[in-house]
Amino acid sequence: MADFRSDTVTQPCQHMRHLMAIAEVGDDVYGDDPSVNRLEAWAAERHGFEAALFVSSGTQANLLGILSHCQRGDEYLCGQEAHNYRYEAGGAAVLGSVQPQPIENLPDGTLPFDKLEKAIKPDDSHFARTRLLSLENTIGGKVLPLDYLKAARQFADKHGLALHLDGARVYNAAVASGVDVTEIARPFDSITVCLSKGLGAPVGSLLLGEKAFIQRARRLRKMLGGGMRQAGILAVAGQYALENNVARLAEDHANARFLAEGLNQLDGFSTDAYAVHTNIVFVDVAPAVDMQAIARELAQQNLIVSPGYQGMRLVTHKDIARADVERLLAILARLVA
Ligand SMILES: *Cc1c(COP(=O)(O)O)cnc(C)c1O
Repeated sequence: MADFRSDTVTQPCQHMRHLMAIAEVGDDVYGDDPSVNRLEAWAAERHGFEAALFVSSGTQANLLGILSHCQRGDEYLCGQEAHNYRYEAGGAAVLGSVQPQPIENLPDGTLPFDKLEKAIKPDDSHFARTRLLSLENTIGGKVLPLDYLKAARQFADKHGLALHLDGARVYNAAVASGVDVTEIARPFDSITVCLSKGLGAPVGSLLLGEKAFIQRARRLRKMLGGGMRQAGILAVAGQYALENNVARLAEDHANARFLAEGLNQLDGFSTDAYAVHTNIVFVDVAPAVDMQAIARELAQQNLIVSPGYQGMRLVTHKDIARADVERLLAILARLVA
């Protein structure tokens, strides 16, 4: 079976499962889990931060990040397309009373500084206090340019803002642009990293930042019910993923590009192959193509896609081989013929 819906569907490999089975564990709420402690210390160093926190999900990592930077009545600037604005159930507003101020993303995923500047509120009792700028990399599979990240740091400094990166897929960005992840992380006060997407761990994300920031996040994690006990079983999987599954992301990117180019050969499908920087392909599907019916047909052949309305997102990952992409293209070609 090849599941193109998301890279979250990746299965832990046998070696990862073995490490999970033999992991040394303890009660992490007491700070006693050696595997969690090892991952947090290693990850802090690896990404160039003082401290790290292992958490249940990317959503929780972002929420803790925003809540640890902001107080009630503060606001954070983010993209209209940002995951932590659109797809996290409004958690920062609901649970933290932190107001989002979204700005339209440009087609390359960046947020224009002139628009950001206009959105910053003056120090006046009418307004929420603008405290934080949150970016996302990759965003919609696109890599934000390094120069833009450096300029964002200058912008944040100029306006006294903290700078957060939703780096759920930051390793895809690093591999696609051929730089170390620390280059991407450096301008930021905090970043999140998803271990359970393309990296292939079953559960978990990291939040990285300064010591005092991570201490605040740790308290909030407990408050949210995110304090886990023998979490080392998950932490060893995450560390294995970071140590072994990064370089191979390049294969996913090549497969995504191959898929995009193949789709462009088919009637009724079009994609901007140049916009495929990493492992995500957005496909325009012509109205005449009955994608729901095609998806059902594909499922019969063990190919899973989730059709949207006149569009579709296809994601490559470690459990999709080049042969699966070829099979998908061949069957699609037959079905639209
Ligand atoms: C998946 C994702 C998240 C959230 O991660 P979950 O583990 O699904 O909660 C956050 N940000 C981005 C950009 C993501 O792609």
